[in-house]
Amino acid sequence: MPQRDPGSTGGEGPATAIFEAPVSRRHLIGGLATAGALAGASPAPAKARTFGGWDFIVVGAGVFGAWTAWNLQRRGHKVLLLDAWGAAHARSSSGGETRLIRTEYAGNALYTRWAWESLAEWHALSRRHDSPVFHETGALYIYPEDTAQIDRSIAIQRALGIPIEKITAAGMARRWPQINFDGIAVGVMQPTMGALTARRSVQALVGEFVKAGGGFRQFAVDPPRSERASLEAITGTGGETLRADRFIFACGPWLPKLFPDVVGARIVPTRQDVFFFAPAAGDTRFESAHLPAWVDVSSKDLHYGFPDIEARGFKIALDAHGPAFDPDTTDRRITDQALADVRAYLARRFPDLAKRPLAESRVCQYENSDNGHLLIDRHPAWANSWIVGGGSGHGFKHGPAVGRYVADLVLGTGKAEPDFALAAHKVHGEAMDDGNG
Ligand SMILES: Cc1cc2nc3c(=O)[nH]c(=O)nc-3n(C[C@H](O)[C@H](O)[C@H](O)COP(=O)(O)OP(=O)(O)OC[C@H]3O[C@@H](n4cnc5c(N)ncnc54)[C@H](O)[C@@H]3O)c2cc1C
Repeated sequence: MPQRDPGSTGGEGPATAIFEAPVSRRHLIGGLATAGALAGASPAPAKARTFGGWDFIVVGAGVFGAWTAWNLQRRGHKVLLLDAWGAAHARSSSGGETRLIRTEYAGNALYTRWAWESLAEWHALSRRHDSPVFHETGALYIYPEDTAQIDRSIAIQRALGIPIEKITAAGMARRWPQINFDGIAVGVMQPTMGALTARRSVQALVGEFVKAGGGFRQFAVDPPRSERASLEAITGTGGETLRADRFIFACGPWLPKLFPDVVGARIVPTRQDVFFFAPAAGDTRFESAHLPAWVDVSSKDLHYGFPDIEARGFKIALDAHGPAFDPDTTDRRITDQALADVRAYLARRFPDLAKRPLAESRVCQYENSDNGHLLIDRHPAWANSWIVGGGSGHGFKHGPAVGRYVADLVLGTGKAEPDFALAAHKVHGEAMDDGNG
């Protein structure tokens, strides 16, 4: 989550109806079953078979690829969305239970606005589905000092009409007695922010996309190659070739593997441990009616968490980057040390949870750019291909804005944001400014 803030070539012949399988509610909320069921609707891959006729192929059905495919489809384009394992699968960065949406962005005007605009689209998606995509828990940032930067950030938000409230430590202690505010000077509460249900929201969106005629396949793409000025086709690990006019690679933490020369260590995945604790039976103080999502800026590691949403337990994690992490090869088990550390933090800030049982845990990965900015740019050698990623632990909330931005960019109707360019991203280790946290 939260992060300290950052600063056709090919279309040959008619499109094969890979699938326009009807999408049932079971598909939409059925976890990996979504991709599996849909993939099952497609013909078995034949060796070196070639499909064509797509305006766009989007590789990667995480939050960025899903919103990009959805936006291009809404603009009348024929889009095929691919993912090696399925939409928002368990090991993707978008595959968790919850992601925070907040507009408190340390005064960064672009991300503040994008988060606010995205919230409206998340609400709209939530309204279109039975199960919630968004829980309006509110979001509370707690700061060790009252600074001018906090007031600048509040002013930017107020100018956009975002409800926001600055609260003293004494005021917060009265409202949320289950939190110990020692060492905290001030809080910023954003009552209309909260928790996006990460995996569910992406799968719901992909379901809409397929229902509206978009193509979706479980398909693992080999690192693309072309000696020409554009990419003609991509090849799957099974040898099958897919063609389209344009390609978008939204492969999150896998981007360095697909583009070792172009992306390489401009994006470094890091291990992030996530914990869910079980409150005592009948203790409702940690449910969303009584506790907002929160970020503790006073903690060195920037702890953050969510109330007990949909009975999963009280969620807590550290925003500090863990060690470099390979999304393909590592077992996803938290360490005893990480659990001990998080319990020590709970003992200080949420004392009544420190000894409660661990209900569940997850290990995910951030896909960090050097400065925390998104990385969205045209491939330097192929005029018809774009790279989209660098969510860096704060990207999820911006999915709708990213989808719109990428669609504008690839259709030539938008202006490129200089901070997102490949050239603006250093290789990690080269005077790296860790804009995350
Ligand atoms: C623990 C944790 C907490 C976070 N908290 C927040 C938060 O609170 N708020 C927030 O806004 N953001 C948060 N983030 C960040 C956010 O979740 C990510 O920035 C975002 O999900 C990245 O999405 P993505 O689409 O770029 O990548 P992904 O979701 O990883 O999607 C990439 C997809 O590409 C597919 N792919 C890769 N290679 C291939 C290939 N060769 N062929 C086919 N498919 C391929 C993968 O299977 C994957 O599904 C958090 C991240 C983590 C890990």
